[in-house]
Amino acid sequence: MTDSSNVTAIHERLDGRLVLPGEAGYDEARSVWNAMVDRRPRMVVRCASVGDVVAAVRTARELDLELGVRCGGHSIVGLAVPEEGLMVDLRPMGGVRVDPVRRRAWVQGGALLGALDREVQRYGLATTAGNVSHTGVGGLTLGGGMGWLARQYGLTCDNVVSFTMVTADGDVVRASRTENPELFWGLRGGGGNFGIVTEFEFRLHPVGTRALVAEYTFPLDRALPALRAWRDLNARAPRQATFTASVGGDGLVRAGFVWVGDPGQGRLLLPEMRALGRPVSERVAEPSYLELQRVDDSVQGHTSRRYWKGHYLGGFPDAAIEAFLRRGVAAGDAGLPSVSLQAYGGAIADVPDQDAAFSHRNTLFEYVCAARWSEPAEDRTRMGAARRAAAELEPYATGAYVNVLSDEGAEGVRRAYPPGKLARLTVLKNAFDPHNVFHLNHNIRPGRA
Ligand SMILES: Cc1cc2nc3c(=O)[nH]c(=O)nc-3n(C[C@H](O)[C@H](O)[C@H](O)COP(=O)(O)OP(=O)(O)OC[C@H]3O[C@@H](n4cnc5c(N)ncnc54)[C@H](O)[C@@H]3O)c2cc1C
Repeated sequence: MTDSSNVTAIHERLDGRLVLPGEAGYDEARSVWNAMVDRRPRMVVRCASVGDVVAAVRTARELDLELGVRCGGHSIVGLAVPEEGLMVDLRPMGGVRVDPVRRRAWVQGGALLGALDREVQRYGLATTAGNVSHTGVGGLTLGGGMGWLARQYGLTCDNVVSFTMVTADGDVVRASRTENPELFWGLRGGGGNFGIVTEFEFRLHPVGTRALVAEYTFPLDRALPALRAWRDLNARAPRQATFTASVGGDGLVRAGFVWVGDPGQGRLLLPEMRALGRPVSERVAEPSYLELQRVDDSVQGHTSRRYWKGHYLGGFPDAAIEAFLRRGVAAGDAGLPSVSLQAYGGAIADVPDQDAAFSHRNTLFEYVCAARWSEPAEDRTRMGAARRAAAELEPYATGAYVNVLSDEGAEGVRRAYPPGKLARLTVLKNAFDPHNVFHLNHNIRPGRA
């Protein structure tokens, strides 16, 4: 039990702040991206230093409190927030330091993608980061990290040079190719299973500051041939281009690509895009790279109820295109989820499969089905519609992205990692967290590998 002497003890050890229920900042700290998540930790430790993270881990263990780790709060099902537990809120550790000459960035464990992008773009540099700037560097990198630069430079985790991590025993360790190399392997895709990362060291690339987005809109009944042609064109696309397609809640189909680099070169793809079919509209824009990275920030804002399902697709045969367009629609359905595809390949697939815990590098497209609504009374129907849409693509799925898992539990973890990788991750878990202190994640259970 937490009594006042325990609370005083941790309070006195902190550079940051302890926030208890009812105190200022408590509700803000426990609110995450998905508005369905309404859990009440017994205490929130707003960590301002590595020492605070150590103190928080030790306190959680001494008091036998379930431990949650929050960076951006974008876990689809709000795994960062423990009911009645201790939440480590890393956001006060949100700093980014850049060495433009060596092309390196040191990013604290609670930083958001926007902070990373902003600091490195001052020098025309970047590393792969996700598509919404209020996502956390922490969760995104540890699960893999897909973004508009991944086909050129690999996933976010492929660009990590070193990690600094607090273990379940409160020790501070480093992991790189030469220090704790097995931990370095596991932290690149294995999620938050092994400890709390307080600093990521990233490799940066000279990407410039410009981008191009092209999008063609088709009515549903004309979309099949267009998506076939889009799929075939993707196979020949330069690495600067990441192909995208979606069906919105409005039933309109959008296909196109995002380009990072010289927009003039990206425009060379437009004639072939225009030949995909007979679009009802064309949208071509030249945002700066920073604008591109924020384009979806408001539509992906924090106040909605959310449910996602995802698949990795190793191929996209015509039958899968038809299933993608059908979206599991049942008669009389309203409030359908949106479904989308983002192309993998390029530098993601160049990395040997055994190099990191991240799996399914041979993915052709990542599929995400995303439902968004506001009324709790609609929870069941909205989630049911999303499950039906994703079930249509299940026969074509070759795996899943751990960062897009929601409520799949152990079955989801088996989809994210093939058996050999899961066994290796289990051995690592046994070494670093045999008591499963870090279990509010897509959990690698300790035990027999
Ligand atoms: C709107 C939105 C857009 C997204 N876009 C992309 C995208 O473009 N590309 C992509 O790859 N993914 C994307 N994702 C998925 C995203 O990578 C995951 O949701 C990820 O878990 C978010 O990390 P977070 O730090 O924001 O989440 P949090 O909820 O804060 O953390 C999630 C989990 O990560 C672990 N964790 C976080 N930080 C640390 C740390 N420093 N040390 C140890 N463990 C930690 C903990 O286990 C925690 O439970 C998106 C998600 C959302 C909601």
